[in-house]
Amino acid sequence: MKIQVPDIPEEGLQHEADLPVTLNRHARPEIAHVFIKIFRYGKRVLIEGTGRITVTVKCSRCLKESALPLDLNFREEYLPAEGSEKEGEQELTSSDLDLSYYRDDELDIAEIVKEQVLLAVPMKTLCREDCMGLCLACGKDLNEGLCGCKEMETDPRLAPLSKLKESLKGRKE
Ligand SMILES: [Zn+2]
Ligand SMILES: [Zn+2]
Repeated sequence: MKIQVPDIPEEGLQHEADLPVTLNRHARPEIAHVFIKIFRYGKRVLIEGTGRITVTVKCSRCLKESALPLDLNFREEYLPAEGSEKEGEQELTSSDLDLSYYRDDELDIAEIVKEQVLLAVPMKTLCREDCMGLCLACGKDLNEGLCGCKEMETDPRLAPLSKLKESLKGRKE
């Protein structure tokens, strides 16, 4: 979904759309339902958007996948990339808007929405607050019950070390 900046009328544009967003190469696209308002002031373009998307995230501890609904709410200003380095930098620092650039008089709404979705996805996600995670030694999902690896419970930081020890032992034999 691309928009030509000179085509944006004075009264602005409004778009409601379902946009497929692919967060990484291996994932299926998820559909973002967005409502977007686009305003133009000369070459400056202001985009306001709200929307909703449900993304698939992996639990940071047990790697189980779960669906995470996200609300999108953004307000971003776009300037032409050409010549932007020289002009108006002082003006811009006073602005509290997020600032981005567009090229060749063209704005790719799908790309803009994707960036916003990426910003909205938390760095760490847990399937539940008290997720026990995986055993560092045997990989068992500890939410389903304990495994027999007692020594690992004491200090998970030593796990890579004992793994190394074990692989060294295996090599000698
Ligand atoms: Zn989990
Ligand atoms: Zn274990």
